[in-house]
Amino acid sequence: QGQGIAIEGLRIGLTSRPGVDVVDDIDLVMRTGEVVGLVGESGSGKTTVGTALLGYTRAGAVFDGGKVLFEDRDVLALPWQQVRQLRGEEIAYVPQDPAAALNPSIRIGKQIVELMQLRGLGTAESRLAGARAGLAEVGLPNDDEFLSRYSHQLSGGQVQRVALAMAFLPRPKVLVLDEPTTGLDVTTQGMVLRTMGELCRSHGVAALYVTHDLAVVANIADRVAVMYAGQIVELGPKEQLFADPRHPYTRALLDSIPHLSQARALSGIPGRTPAPGARPGGCRFHNRCAYAIEECAKDTPALRDLAPAHQVRCIRAEEIGAWDISRGAVPD
Ligand code: SF4
Repeated sequence: QGQGIAIEGLRIGLTSRPGVDVVDDIDLVMRTGEVVGLVGESGSGKTTVGTALLGYTRAGAVFDGGKVLFEDRDVLALPWQQVRQLRGEEIAYVPQDPAAALNPSIRIGKQIVELMQLRGLGTAESRLAGARAGLAEVGLPNDDEFLSRYSHQLSGGQVQRVALAMAFLPRPKVLVLDEPTTGLDVTTQGMVLRTMGELCRSHGVAALYVTHDLAVVANIADRVAVMYAGQIVELGPKEQLFADPRHPYTRALLDSIPHLSQARALSGIPGRTPAPGARPGGCRFHNRCAYAIEECAKDTPALRDLAPAHQVRCIRAEEIGAWDISRGAVPD
């Protein structure tokens, strides 16, 4: 696997509040043909990290440091014309609400052909065939009847697949998926996730799947990064992270499946993810952590190697491996 895209030392702040970070000290590599799941609650900064791959921050936020390295270029240092060209072609994005990205008054086939034209893909003669091939690739019908439908005539799962087909048409090297399966029923979601994962792997795409839902990550990701209050707190291969989580926050997230919800506090953990500017010093999780000791409030723990490819931001990670939080056992 080659290095698809790499975030190094990323820090994003607020223009209105210098010194306050939205995300801090983010290091994350997405290799070619790999899906990395980025998990966190609302306010964790996960979406901010996702959009940074596209060289973009939301209004009021500002890049304060770090790089996004893609093919020896720093996306954050490129002139905006080059960033705009990268977006949608080499680095594609599937939004949270794919239906909103489709034009309700243009037939599906025409929309895809127009997108190909805009991106300079194919010739006038070949685009329709390209659109049919793109739809077939994501498991959709590609006959004239389907091409002549409007987006409101599609099911939720079909809309997601059309958005995926459109993102894949320019053959991107990097794909950022921002909770695109939210709102689908579990069965449809599982099928769409499988298609996404297969496409990323077979086309050698480096993908970041941003979500609040660890159950979704279990379906699609090869590796998982867990974010809390603007920092990655645990990173590792999916199997290892699910079988042997070492950060108390990851353990709590796993404990709360299948009830995990952005709208609700985590089961067994008082409080909520603190907003930028309201985060405590030391370990940012210490005021909610059942394992906290005095030392946890002093310095911010570094994200450190615990095992090959498994990193944790917790000073007690070695001890935590021996405890069983699911039985309510909390250390002294
Ligand atoms: Fe909990 Fe301390 Fe580990 Fe932070 S460093 S997660 S407060 S045990």
